[in-house]
Amino acid sequence: MAKIPINIATGSLQKDEIIVGIDLGTTNSLIAVIHPDSKKPVALKEHNGISLVPSVIHFDESGNVLVGEDAKPYLQTDAANTIFSAKRLMGKTYKDVKEAGELAYKIIDDDDNKLVKVQVGNTFYSPVDLSSLILKELKKQAEHILKTPVNKAVITVPAYFNDAQRQATRDAGKLAGLDVLRIINEPTAASLAYGFGTTGNSKQGSDNGQTIAVYDLGGGTFDISILNIANGIFEVLSTHGNTLLGGDDFDTAIVNYWMTENKFEGDEIKHRQALRLIAEEAKKHLSANEIFEKEYKGYKLNLSHAAFNELIKPIADKTIVACKHALKDAGLNKQDIDEVVMVGGSTRVPLIKQMVRDFFGKQLNDSVHPDEVVALGAAIQADILAGNTTGLLLLDITPLSLGLETMGGLMDVLLPRNSKIPTKASRQYTTYKDGQSAMKIAVYQGERDMVKDNRRLAEFNLTGIPGMPAGLPKVEISFLINADGILVVNAKELRSGIEQSVEVKPQYGLTDEEVEKMLLDSMQHAKEDMDIRALTEAKTEAEQLLSTTEKFIQKNFSSISKDELTATSHAMQALQLALDMDDKNLVQAKTQELNEISKPYAERIMDEAIQKSMQGSKIGPA
Ligand code: AMP
Repeated sequence: MAKIPINIATGSLQKDEIIVGIDLGTTNSLIAVIHPDSKKPVALKEHNGISLVPSVIHFDESGNVLVGEDAKPYLQTDAANTIFSAKRLMGKTYKDVKEAGELAYKIIDDDDNKLVKVQVGNTFYSPVDLSSLILKELKKQAEHILKTPVNKAVITVPAYFNDAQRQATRDAGKLAGLDVLRIINEPTAASLAYGFGTTGNSKQGSDNGQTIAVYDLGGGTFDISILNIANGIFEVLSTHGNTLLGGDDFDTAIVNYWMTENKFEGDEIKHRQALRLIAEEAKKHLSANEIFEKEYKGYKLNLSHAAFNELIKPIADKTIVACKHALKDAGLNKQDIDEVVMVGGSTRVPLIKQMVRDFFGKQLNDSVHPDEVVALGAAIQADILAGNTTGLLLLDITPLSLGLETMGGLMDVLLPRNSKIPTKASRQYTTYKDGQSAMKIAVYQGERDMVKDNRRLAEFNLTGIPGMPAGLPKVEISFLINADGILVVNAKELRSGIEQSVEVKPQYGLTDEEVEKMLLDSMQHAKEDMDIRALTEAKTEAEQLLSTTEKFIQKNFSSISKDELTATSHAMQALQLALDMDDKNLVQAKTQELNEISKPYAERIMDEAIQKSMQGSKIGPA
């Protein structure tokens, strides 16, 4: 009988359990491991020799599910029951998806702000359910090839994925029966696959580390990320891209070209569908040849390399613009980039290679299979987590600021944008009403000064605060972002020790364009935001003064003269009027006036109270 050692401290099995690396892609997914003999990462291949599992799921009427290659033909024959690009839906609301364009399958739209669900027959599937089906298929294939159970994985996500999308990916893993040890960024994985940042890599740079541009052009998405790797720490300096741009657009451009070159008879949609497949074939052919020719239903289709380049040049240009933005965001010049890494099937196109090479003025790292490079990197990360490689840490940054709503709807930032993660920040707050027993904690993401212009991620109430005068409770709120980029918000009243926390699974997903738009908005509205913040702060102060003055007068009515009361009442009215007019300078002036009027009698009454209490107190034994 085999003996399995158990770690007494943790109770965990110490058998050499395999940890796989998974690239959960929009169009294709794949799984890789470190080969036990060569110690090199390899993509797992079924008998057909293909490592890619198309991210496609087909549901038939009796509830049978097909995933991958077997599901792909149904994209044409049974589109309504065949789901593709589920990754695009991860962590998204219906509203987010509606803006992204048409999908052949049905999306549930009962509430714009709810997380999206897909309807197939009478069943509803969340993007997490769908991704878990793909992960299950990958797990099954891996177990079949490796002949051992696979329970642990590292899964990659785009660098621009927000908390909700990372959490959704993690949940999908769990649902597929996988313990997701780490979620890592795709560009980080690609850099690892090229050996950047790993110990023993001869290219390891100076003390400032290496700066790497990762250009990732797949079938339907594009992104460029700038990373810095120093002392084994990977930091995403910036990321840009377009989630609706990729090699599929090259195919569309070719189809459009052929449609105008030929006068096809009959159903245009049918022709387009058929031509799409030939267009992809032509594109791939032209990656290694000068001319493509094929007969289609008696028509002669042809495309030269030069004509193809002309067709795709506008699309390629867009990716170069994104590279410029990414450099600018990282505060770098082209000359600062040490290495350029190419990822994604569409980087095989010669024009793309040439344009990226020309733009950065560098030779490209394109020797690793562009479809496998991310999964191979994930396998390397898995190996690091298994303890086989030491001295490596992965570090990312938050793309947007995270903060809380404070009085008057203002955004109070706890973690500024571009904070390195994992990270932690905390700040103390207090109550503004006497005896206030609950405090609303509303967490927002964004750069604007008013929370209404930012995105709400979570809200909860810290309840059970013991009755105390306003301003006395000390509520410490801390934000912790763990290594996966998931935010945990904790609120603790320090005097009583009551405590509550939430793990933020935001309702809203954000694409990189949205992040970009939010940043742009914050710059465009900077002046307006500053004015609103100043007005809100002045109004909050004025409202608090009005409320305390009123309370003070009620309590000390008999000690205030008639003249003082009249003057105070006038000043309060004037301040109220200024508040209604939303005029910051007037609010500040009237606040000062009320303060000046009430200060003399307030001080007098306080002095009297102190005198009285002194008289009443006895020092020492009587
Ligand atoms: P990915 O999303 O990374 O799997 O990339 C898939 C995209 O790469 C699809 O648009 C493919 O048509 C494209 N692709 C695959 N092989 C080639 C090739 N040899 N030349 C040009 N494009 C290719």
